[in-house]
Amino acid sequence: MSASIEITNVTKRYGALTVLSDISLAISAGEFIVFLGPSGCGKSTLLRMIAGLEDVTEGTISVDGVRVDTLPPGKRGVAMVFQSYALYPHMTVAQNMSFGLENIGVAKAEIEKRVRFAADTLEIAHLLDRKPQKLSGGQRQRVAIGRAIVKEPKAFLFDEPLSNLDAALRGRTRLELAQLHGRLGSTMVFVTHDQVEAMTLADRIVIMQDRRIEQIGTPMEVYRRPATRFVAAFVGSPA
Ligand code: ADP
Ligand code: MG
Repeated sequence: MSASIEITNVTKRYGALTVLSDISLAISAGEFIVFLGPSGCGKSTLLRMIAGLEDVTEGTISVDGVRVDTLPPGKRGVAMVFQSYALYPHMTVAQNMSFGLENIGVAKAEIEKRVRFAADTLEIAHLLDRKPQKLSGGQRQRVAIGRAIVKEPKAFLFDEPLSNLDAALRGRTRLELAQLHGRLGSTMVFVTHDQVEAMTLADRIVIMQDRRIEQIGTPMEVYRRPATRFVAAFVGSPA
């Protein structure tokens, strides 16, 4: 399952501080879209607004054409993948994945089915009874992704999920994310400040700077035809 996401004239202010200014973008169903920009440009804030963890100050956000910006997070059909350190240390892998579903009243048999599917998809079925502290960093990150998969979202939202993995593991997990996208076909919205991640994962890259979108395009387009000096410098386009 996958959904389109429409972001229309979205502005975000914290008091007098404007952190995002008039952002508009249509994400296609099934697309792997990457928001790329330096620290502080508003990437996390935008993702958190799609997830429903932050209010929109102005503008609207829709999923499959239905306005969601006033709906609670659980009702939007999207799921955020949090950093792996957000796992509950006292729960097993299976419990970590089931927890959110029990809260929203999904039947036990259905929960088991979904946990099994997520564990198989992520190749962590042999780890279901372990506690997070017995897992490697990469395994923990997969459990964090599993927590989103069991919600059966139409779109996954990732906020720099690879940033606290070492270089080798980052490369491998990046590949696995691409495979996951291929297997599930879900819309992927991925935030990073890492150009290589963006270039290798994205169908389209949204380059952000200073509260705004600088350019939207395929990795090749932004690399070959950067719209601004900032984009050229940021993605390392040849001069
Ligand atoms: P990024 O994820 O691109 O690094 P963020 O979305 O985290 O950027 O932050 C964008 C800007 O909004 C930053 O200047 C940050 O300090 C500010 N900001 C984020 N959250 C809050 C908040 N709750 N209150 C005030 N300012 C915030
Ligand atoms: Mg951030």
